[in-house]
Amino acid sequence: MSSYITDTINYLKHSSPAQAEFYQAAEEVLTSLKPLLDRNPKYQKHNIIQRVVEPERQIFFRVAWIDDRGNVLVNKGYRVEFNSALGPYKGGLRFHPNVNAGIIKFLGFEQIFKNSLSGLPIGGAKGGSNFEPKGKSDNEIMRFCQSFMTELFRHIGATIDVPAGDIGVGGREIGYLYGQYKRLTGRYEGVLTGKGLNWGGSLVRTEATGYGAVYFAQNMLAARGDSLEGKVCAVSGSGNVAIYTIEKLYQVGAKPVTASDSNGMIHDPDGIDLDLLKRVKEVERARLTRYVEERPKAVYTPVEDYPFGRNQVWSVPCQAAFPSATQNEVNAEDARELLKNGCVCISEGANMPSTQGAIEAFLAAGIAYGPAKAANAGGVSTSQLEMSQNASMLQWTFEEVDAKLQRIMANIYRSASETAREFGEPGNLVLGANIAGFRKVADAMIDQGVV
Ligand code: NAP
Repeated sequence: MSSYITDTINYLKHSSPAQAEFYQAAEEVLTSLKPLLDRNPKYQKHNIIQRVVEPERQIFFRVAWIDDRGNVLVNKGYRVEFNSALGPYKGGLRFHPNVNAGIIKFLGFEQIFKNSLSGLPIGGAKGGSNFEPKGKSDNEIMRFCQSFMTELFRHIGATIDVPAGDIGVGGREIGYLYGQYKRLTGRYEGVLTGKGLNWGGSLVRTEATGYGAVYFAQNMLAARGDSLEGKVCAVSGSGNVAIYTIEKLYQVGAKPVTASDSNGMIHDPDGIDLDLLKRVKEVERARLTRYVEERPKAVYTPVEDYPFGRNQVWSVPCQAAFPSATQNEVNAEDARELLKNGCVCISEGANMPSTQGAIEAFLAAGIAYGPAKAANAGGVSTSQLEMSQNASMLQWTFEEVDAKLQRIMANIYRSASETAREFGEPGNLVLGANIAGFRKVADAMIDQGVV
């Protein structure tokens, strides 16, 4: 490893202890920047690496709330405003019990370069809480969101920091958060994205991350004279990203056959029944065991029965895979299994779903591998389109937004792939996406002086 990478990671381990996911994300980006840094001494002269790994501002706060039985509970709240060189901070909120400062920082760090790659004027941020939304009543969710916003509201604004959803934060939560923001500030403004369609939301925002990951896969395959048509696809997760990945896969003639949640996975060889999956997950908010009750031909495997240290989703033979659940859900062994079974395309809907070992296996095999910060940028890009509509008080049609999303995904593919070629590694979209995303942010930081 080059000394600047080792030095930076050692510095982070000392200054920000116990943030394994953040070091992992930083190391992946820094490693691919080497050829750029070798060619351009200006980045070292301006100490951009040390500046870019340090968030501009981190807000940690207490979220106290009362459950339905009258118990007083406390969670941790986070907002990490990582980098504003290109625009107002932008990035989602995650509510999940495993959320900690390191996870929010890895997500915020990735978000800087993803937002830059989108070509849109947005900085990078992330936030959330270690709150577990599963099993909570609507009223408990509302009280939690209100308490969370009662602190967060003083740090955000339509031209300052514009949060959106992520794991555990969907349309319902954004609604409660927005209501409280409006009550506290008296302002009806585009301070959150993913809003309801009749109160400032954008068409296609719900579908955008999943649709975008499929558009990205189409771009990668088209460049190789291939397509998704007729391909059997493995998808992990069963939340927002997974559901709309599956929907778009059907629309382009592919056959998605798996879905998963944190308890287990389903393999439906005839193709996932999308209406049933949406009902189970979006309406009933139930577990995937409900799906197999109504679809006896599908096979359910609980997590306890997965092969040791592996994710069973990636054992199902497929030609294209769409990791859409969470970080580090594809390890090196999963990757080898996917490759052995003939998988030729990976498009990452989730953030950092592949471990470093898995990434190396995909790159060595030379398959079409779309890293998260490129492949799942459709979500944040459509959020920015929502901000544009809010600012101009206009509402675009579904077709208009979808056409813009397709153009953005094609541009991201082109930018990552041309940059990979420029640095002598054609097809390496990890290197291409990292360098293209970083270069724009770094140049803006230099232009804006030492701040
Ligand atoms: P979501 O609607 O909350 O769904 C998350 C899905 O992943 C659920 O099926 C969940 O299962 C599963 N999951 C979560 N944590 C897990 C774990 N530790 N192990 C196994 N399964 C787990 O969230 P989402 O918005 O679809 O987000 C999924 C991924 O996409 C995340 O990595 C997120 O950062 C990324 N992403 C989302 C967007 C967006 O616009 N929403 C944009 C870019 C990237 P349970 O229900 O059992 O927890």
